[in-house]
This record gives sequence, structure tokens and C-alpha cells, in this order.
Amino acid sequence: MDEFLKRQLQISPATLKKLAKLELDNLMDLVCHKPLRYEADTEPKTIRQTSVGDKVLIEGTIVEKSILLKGRRQLVLQLQDVEGSKILIRLFHFYPNQLNDYTINQTIRAFGEIKHGYYGKEMIHPRIQVQFSRVISPYLTPIYPTVKGLSQRVLQGLIHRALTLTDLEDFLPDALLKKNELIDFKQAVYALHYTKHDLYQVELSGAIHPALKRLKFDELLAQQLSMGLLRLRRQSRKKVNLQLKQGLMERLLRELPFQLTQAQKRALREIEENLKAAEPMHRLLQGDVGSGKTIVAAAAALMVIEAGYQVALVAPTELLAEQHTNQFKTWLEPLGISVALLIGAQTKKEKTQIKEKLASGEHQIALGTHALFQKDIKFKNLQMIIIDEQHRFGVNQRLLLKEKGEGVDQLMMSATPIPRTLAMTYFADVDVSSLDELPPNRTPVRTILIEESRRAEVENFVWKKIQEGRQVYWVCPLIEESESLQLQTAISLYEKLVLQFPKVSIGLLHGRMKKQEKIKLMEKFKDQKLQILVATTVIEVGIDVPNASTMVIEHAERMGLSQLHQLRGRVGRAERLASEALLLYQTPLSDKAKARLKVIYQSNDGFQIANEDLRLRGPGEFLGAKQSGIPVLKFADITEDAGLLALARATAAELLRTSPEIVGKYIRRWLPDREAYFGV
Ligand code: ADP
Ligand code: MG
Repeated sequence: MDEFLKRQLQISPATLKKLAKLELDNLMDLVCHKPLRYEADTEPKTIRQTSVGDKVLIEGTIVEKSILLKGRRQLVLQLQDVEGSKILIRLFHFYPNQLNDYTINQTIRAFGEIKHGYYGKEMIHPRIQVQFSRVISPYLTPIYPTVKGLSQRVLQGLIHRALTLTDLEDFLPDALLKKNELIDFKQAVYALHYTKHDLYQVELSGAIHPALKRLKFDELLAQQLSMGLLRLRRQSRKKVNLQLKQGLMERLLRELPFQLTQAQKRALREIEENLKAAEPMHRLLQGDVGSGKTIVAAAAALMVIEAGYQVALVAPTELLAEQHTNQFKTWLEPLGISVALLIGAQTKKEKTQIKEKLASGEHQIALGTHALFQKDIKFKNLQMIIIDEQHRFGVNQRLLLKEKGEGVDQLMMSATPIPRTLAMTYFADVDVSSLDELPPNRTPVRTILIEESRRAEVENFVWKKIQEGRQVYWVCPLIEESESLQLQTAISLYEKLVLQFPKVSIGLLHGRMKKQEKIKLMEKFKDQKLQILVATTVIEVGIDVPNASTMVIEHAERMGLSQLHQLRGRVGRAERLASEALLLYQTPLSDKAKARLKVIYQSNDGFQIANEDLRLRGPGEFLGAKQSGIPVLKFADITEDAGLLALARATAAELLRTSPEIVGKYIRRWLPDREAYFGV
């Protein structure tokens, strides 16, 4: 918050910190701070009117006051109301000076639950008002989300002051408001804080309060406008004219041991159209785990390379980059293409050499992590960036890639399908190809849920599979709070299994290992020199070892839905090979954990799972975007407000065409921190 504002609002540094915790950073944030609920400022009830269990407001005069020292120390007040009925009020936590707050004959109000006590009706620790006005406010009292140490009263005061300081001009023309039945913006913002009718109550009845409707609409509109601006910006970029030839691609496809699926062919055609177009490609290739995205990427890369340009592929981990490199080398080197891997584990000399060859254009495709885009790495003529497992990258990393790639074609790949609603919002700027078909002859992974107490059965099963020549992944529990604790559990699980299966060769893979070690270990597993690979969730993305057909997951109840689905997708990758995921869980299960396990058990469909995941976790979490700069929606819910979303989309398209000044105003109001980015 800027200095001027801080002074205007008279915010102390301590309060400022608390506001920051609530992500209230400017005036708009404050005036759009959405109440959790509303409370009626009602008239007090007489004690006679109340029954045990009621939550009520009462008013009375203090007729007795004492401190009980026996048992739990407490301050006891006896109140007598206008009808002469009495009630006891017990306060357990009180400061010495609070004793002086209450005096005999003083009238106070107490809000709380009526309990049945030894002497009749009681209230334990009610909210007490010493000062109150007898005039009933016509407005409901909004109760805001807050943090410890920031009282409702202070927060309310700040919001009220912010309301008078914020420019709440309506940017939309009257005709547009009328047509879409939208109320005035200022009126909507005020209604959030001054209302006579509970805004949410209206929602419960299936309708939507006009104030909320307007705020949701504006928020969605701002988001759609920002997406529209991104799209326009991309379209205005010049791109080289690619002369596609496709001789090499056809040779690659002819030599493959398999035929592309219809879905893969369709995706390739869509990519080809983008490559030929005058504007840079911005395409997402989405397909469930195992749907075969890599070969599509390789074929697309070949088109660009044959046209005389370079390609870069970025993966979220070095392990995955290494795996892709091996795969690309087998596919592309026979065609005379020079493939380079650039990772941190290489020596300085190796790196220098690779960099030189990238700069000269000798290496036609480079694979690595996003470190590929460090300043000192120069390409001769980079024309396409492929981003694997793009949902693994933070938004900022994605922006970095984007900036690197003015005029460059981008192909993003993701195994987490994007639910339609998200596709229309956060991904509105992206064309999507879907691999909605798995390669043939895959046997779906069988998912088995097993309670921890039946562990022995899992061990027997694994032993049997190993004797059949199969390989097994054994995934350690997720411990979010502490990486070192996770490492510890991984090591102890590994040691336990080594004792249990003395004749089996077992490997341990975890995030703290040196990159080179990880890569070596994966190679050993791939070459079947290891039968069991104990691993932390580092293997969640992308690893492809078709002979591994069994996956054991420890503490499955701790993992997110998409993560479980990704893990499970590591098996079931070979033709006609039965495979299974054994999900160990510990009881008792929370409701959410139960819901997750149920979904993962019942469904093998990544799309459905993604939808459920979105429902259970909300879009912020889903996108992994909490701190990554994606504007989080405060009012709108993209699954529930689909109608408004469509309206906002249409309006955004119109405004972008006709009224750039309104667009600018919206971005500045709703996305102030991204103003520079959009250049409005
Ligand atoms: P993902 O989409 O999860 O990245 P991969 O690209 O790793 O999947 O492909 C999974 C496995 O399927 C790989 O071993 C790959 O060689 C194989 N594969 C890809 N396409 C086909 C196909 N059309 N027919 C048979 N196997 C295929
Ligand atoms: Mg993959």
C-alpha cells in the first residue's frame, strides 16, 4: 500500500502487516473485501423469551458481581432484565482491568448461547457490549474474514474509510448495463458493506443478488479483457514464414514400431496449421497420462527443424529432460538431427561446448529445464518452444518463457486436462488439442484401496509380481511440511523393504540426490537391473518405464487427486500388460480424503478427475497458482457462474473491438499489479 494511502487510512505498521496477510494491498482490495456473512443488529430478547440452546442477544443491569476462586477462576455477573428475570454470566478469561469495566447497576448487552446451569439460565463467555446504541441500525453487520489481532471493528472502519476514498465510477455505458441487467458499480460495492438483506441468503434460493452479480461480472470481465489483450498482443507479433517440408517427419512416423492414434494425427495437423500461420502458435496439447504426447512433440519439432530452425524442449525436472533426450535421440538421430541436453549436472566444459553449438545452429534441438532460457544461452534461430508438463511450471516461469519467445511458436503439454470452465477463463488465450484416445491394447490400471493394517497382503502381491518379471514403483508418503522428514521416511521405507526382500534389488530415488545419480538410477531401473524403485513423489511426472506394472502408494490419503492420477499413470504403459496401483491408506479418513480416494478408485478418466479436483480444491490450488500472479477470483465461481462468464466473454470481445479506453480502466482497477505487463 502506498504511503499516501497509509496516511489517509491511518494504518499502523502492525495493522498493515495484518492487512497484507489478508492480501488487502490497495483500496480496491479493501472495498472488495467480501464479508463471510451478515449478522442482524437485532433487538435484545427478554430472558423469559429465551430457551436453553438459543443464541440470543439479551440486555440487563448488573445486580451482582463476584469472582469465584474455587474451581476454575471466573468472573460471575448476575444480570436482571426489564421484566425482573435474572441470568448468570460466567467469564473465564478476563484481565484484572476488565473487573472495572463492569459495575453494579450498569446496563450491558450480552450475545451468546443460553445454557442450563445450577441456578437457572446462564451464558458462558458471551460477547459483551458495554456501550451500545438503542437505535437499531437498518443495515446488517458484515462479518469479514480477518486474522488474529485485527478486530472486526477496525477492519470495518478501514473499509468504510476506503469506500469514501475509492473511485467507484462506472466504466460501462448505460445501454450495456441495461441490456445485461446490471446495477451501478458503486451501488454494488456499497451493498456489499451496507445491506438490509443478506446477500448470500438470496443466493441460497438459487437467485443471485444484483450486487453480487455486478461484482462477479466485473471481475470476470477484467479477467477476460486481460486474456483478450494477451491474445491481441500475440497476434500482432511477426513470425518468420516457415516453409514446411515434412519429408523427415514422414520418415520418422514410418520407422516407428506403432501407428499414431487418430487423436495424435489430428493434433499434428492442428499444430501444422499453426506453424504455417502468420502468427505464433500458442497451443496446449492435453492428453491423459500415457496418451502419447511425446511423439507428437517430436514430430512437430521435426517440421520446424526441417524448415531450418531450432527447437527447445523444457521439462520440469532434469530427470524428465534426460528421459526425453534419450527418446528424442533414438527417434531423431537416425534422421541426421543433432540433439543436445543441457542440464546443471554437466561440467563447465561440456556446457560451453553445447552452448557454442546452439549458437552456431549445429545443435538443432536442445532439451533441458527452464534453465535453458538463461541469458547466456543463445540460439542461432530458435523457432519453437515445447513445454512439457506445463502445469508444473509457475506462472512466472511461463511468462519468462513467453518473453524469451517473441514470435516463437509455443507448444505446451499437460497431462492434467483443463476443465472447460478453466479453459474459458485462465486459458482463454490458448488453442487446445486433445489426445482423447489412448494407444490401443492398453489394459486399464486396476486400482486397489487397502488399509494400512493389511500391508502384508501388499507385500505378498509385490513379491509375486517380481517373480513374474515385473517391476514395481513404491512411492513414499508425501510430507509437505518438511522435505527432510520426507527424506527420512523414504530412507526408512527403503531399509525396511531391503530387509523384507533380501533377494530383490531395490533402488531409492529422492529429490535430494545429485541429478547425475538420479539419472543413473532411472537408467538402471529402465534396464531392469532394479526390481523395486522406492521413490518420493519426484517420479510423479512423465517417467516412462513400460515394464513397471505395479505401483504402491503409501499414505494415499495425503495426496491430491491429480497427483494420484499422475502417479498411477506411471504404470499401465505397455501393450497387453495388466497393471495395478495399490493405494495404502490410514484411517481415520477425513471427508475430503474419503472423497478423493473414492474418485480415484471409481474413475480412470483424467478429465473427470480433473473436474473433481477443481471442485474439491478450487481453481487457485488447481493451477498451483496461489502465489504465482494469476488473479484469484473473489466473487465469481467459474463452475457456478458459467452464465455470467459467457456474458463477460462476449462483452470483453466487444469492448476490445470498440472501447480500448474502457479496457484500460478495467485492467487498472482490477489488475493493477499487471498494468505494466499489459501496457495499458
Ligand atoms: P504421455 O502422454 O503421458 O507423455 P508418452 O508420450 O510418454 O505419454 O507415451 C506413453 C507410451 O506410449 C510411450 O512408451 C510411447 O512410446 C507409447 N506410445 C505413444 N503413442 C503410441 C501409439 N500410437 N501406439 C502405441 N504406443 C504409443
Ligand atoms: Mg509425458
